[in-house]
Amino acid sequence: MTTTTNQFGFPIQTCTRCKGEGHYSYNQVTGTRCFKCLGTKTTITPKAKEAWAAFQLHLSNRKEVAAKNLQLGDLIARNKVWCEVTNIIITDEACGWSIQNEVKTVKDTYVILTYIREGIEETFKTNGNSVMRRHSGAVDPTPFLAMIKQQTKAKK
Ligand SMILES: [Zn+2]
Repeated sequence: MTTTTNQFGFPIQTCTRCKGEGHYSYNQVTGTRCFKCLGTKTTITPKAKEAWAAFQLHLSNRKEVAAKNLQLGDLIARNKVWCEVTNIIITDEACGWSIQNEVKTVKDTYVILTYIREGIEETFKTNGNSVMRRHSGAVDPTPFLAMIKQQTKAKK
């Protein structure tokens, strides 16, 4: 079996189900496309699966973030354009609360974001917990690749 690496350096192997064909017996969901490798002909090796899953989670956390957790320099999607965040003000103005036994609990406060959209500065006020689309940027897979090596050592 051939072992090589994917674009992030994770070890992959020829899909054991379709033998690297990308296609297998017909099913109603994916047609003849192999559902194990999704037609990509390769899968992450079993040893690297946990590290790969952790890396995928990290990537998705990069891509979706609560407005209050944004950082300066992050790129956010505004009307299909990536805009650089240049200022973040977390206000104490409540935008959601609950009242239980006459005690009022503030759930969220507003966040005021300033960003540059096509050279023009814009501001945007939103719920601090509203989920923003963020450009994942260059995500370093090194710590996740290191997880594979640690597991290999632990098994020896
Ligand atoms: Zn396959």
